[in-house]
Amino acid sequence: MPNVLFAARAERWPEYEPHLRAAFSEVGLEADLSTDFPPDQVDYIVYAPNSKVKDFTPFTRLKAVLNLWAGVEAVVGNPTLTVPLARMVDPALTQGMVEWVTGHTLRHHLGMDAHIHAKPGEWVNEAPPVAWDRQVTILGLGELGRACAESLVRLGFQVRGWSNSPKAIDGVDCHHGTDGLRAALSGAEIVILLLPDTPDTENTLNADTLGLLAKRAAILNPGRGPLIDDDALLAALDSGQVGHATLDTFRVEPLPADHPFWQHPHVTVTPHIASETRAAWSSKTIAENVRRGEAGEPFLHLVDRQRGY
Ligand code: NAP
Repeated sequence: MPNVLFAARAERWPEYEPHLRAAFSEVGLEADLSTDFPPDQVDYIVYAPNSKVKDFTPFTRLKAVLNLWAGVEAVVGNPTLTVPLARMVDPALTQGMVEWVTGHTLRHHLGMDAHIHAKPGEWVNEAPPVAWDRQVTILGLGELGRACAESLVRLGFQVRGWSNSPKAIDGVDCHHGTDGLRAALSGAEIVILLLPDTPDTENTLNADTLGLLAKRAAILNPGRGPLIDDDALLAALDSGQVGHATLDTFRVEPLPADHPFWQHPHVTVTPHIASETRAAWSSKTIAENVRRGEAGEPFLHLVDRQRGY
């Protein structure tokens, strides 16, 4: 029977324990689950990067680390981690992101703020364009970016996407690689960042690439803070090149109280709530991966340590 250590914040255990037990029973695998095993008796670690475990060396019989988060930037470079690392993919995490992205895209597409904040008597009788006259670009076409792209296509938007490797997604004009970025961004009116945080993706939006967007473009960043050069974004907001930025992720979190994003009239801060891992769903992903490990089958959602995601 494998020993599965739950190494996330201790207060999450009461929430996760029943779901993990149910999920292991569903996949027909007996496992010992605990927040406290001697390290040399642990077979799998259910891991959150904010856990106390930072040194994997004492876990001498460890078979895999199963990350509870989709983003792995805080663990992928850990030199003491020498076993496979899987990231989180679960339907509720994806659904939450689709809802956040769709909602904030529609806010900017429909110009809702003008009416929510209109002064009494202000009657500007200009209807917004329909979705098929709106150019939206999604940077990152992985689990989350692809689902968001498909949802926006269903709403009728003109959707472009960008990824590392070539993709074919119905209704999406797909671009890839360094050369594809300019084509993906040129004239974009709403840009959504769903890239991982890696050395290659840092400052993907910078003074140069922000200049490719349509005048007064909106930016949504539920990906990671370092994807955007903050100073370049503030300059683009001040010049009017960017009309609004809705930011969910930041270089430092919580976003410090004195950060200019808080005060900026054209920035909306959401506190890293675009989507989160839910115990009921993520437990199924975890149990299935442990079952695979025990059966000698390939793990799902493995991280490529070289690429960093
Ligand atoms: P994923 O499945 O790994 O997808 C990542 C996408 O980015 C892939 O399409 C990949 O291209 C592309 N990419 C990576 N490096 C690139 C580069 N240098 N140039 C061009 N494209 C590149 O990840 P995911 O599950 O969709 O999650 C994406 C990110 O969302 C996570 O890493 C995390 O940071 C963030 N996230 C945020 C929240 C929140 O609440 N704010 C919640 C969950 C996740 P290929 O497909 O060609 O590999």
